[in-house]
Amino acid sequence: MASSDSFNDFVTCPYNKAHKLIRGRLTKHLERCSRISGNSKQFLVCPYNENHRYKAEELSLHMKECPERIRWHSELQKEDPRQQATETTWSISAECEEDWDKEPDVPTYNPIKYCEDNFVARTTAINGKSKAARRDFRANERRRLAGKQ
Ligand SMILES: [Zn+2]
Ligand SMILES: [Zn+2]
Repeated sequence: MASSDSFNDFVTCPYNKAHKLIRGRLTKHLERCSRISGNSKQFLVCPYNENHRYKAEELSLHMKECPERIRWHSELQKEDPRQQATETTWSISAECEEDWDKEPDVPTYNPIKYCEDNFVARTTAINGKSKAARRDFRANERRRLAGKQ
């Protein structure tokens, strides 16, 4: 794994160039070292990785080429559109396929509109049914318990 390799990399502390430490210890070290060194106010934290600390004038340069930022953006681009596409396809085909087949020749047919209306109607019907079913169930339960006593 790349992360376990980089965990054991040696990095230089941004507060004191004499501090060399394992990357995996950097977060803890930075907390302590920023308090001890007393010059932590000169440093800003990279928004993409809290272990990247730079002076204000260096940070803007760093943010353009921060490896975390490049990874962050490429992951966003990979995941987002695919997820959305899957969801959209799923909801339309699952809810409407059946009804499109029943009435394929309506001239001013708007599948999306039809689908939405139809979906609402069906949801109401299902809710109504299940409500009635629940009521029946409760009534039956009451009768059953009353019979027992
Ligand atoms: Zn340090
Ligand atoms: Zn960074």
